Amino acid sequence: MPLDAAARAVVGRAKEVAGIVPARPPLTDQDKRDAREAIKGGQICVLCGGLHVCPSTLACPRVASGKLNGDGAVIEVTFWAMGQWDTSRVLFAADVEDDLDESEHEPEAG
Ligand SMILES: [Zn+2]
Repeated sequence: MPLDAAARAVVGRAKEVAGIVPARPPLTDQDKRDAREAIKGGQICVLCGGLHVCPSTLACPRVASGKLNGDGAVIEVTFWAMGQWDTSRVLFAADVEDDLDESEHEPEAG
């Protein structure tokens, strides 16, 4: 039910803003190195394109519902709409590759 995901995302963000739950801490250089190794190792989730525990399974946070065959392989999946799923547990290549070619970060404008 997509409304559940949207509601969870709003509540989760509100809790972050209110300081009830901390936002994800910034990635350390070691975190980024580990993530890049995992990406090179092909541990990317085929369902969301990110890194998270139990990739390419129904545990993917982008998956709203799905079906497995008798061997436990995902055979059918329904996704949450873009912007309505919890990406806080997912690392994307862009999150860890932003400093591959440059050693310093420029602050974002605005
Ligand atoms: Zn995934």
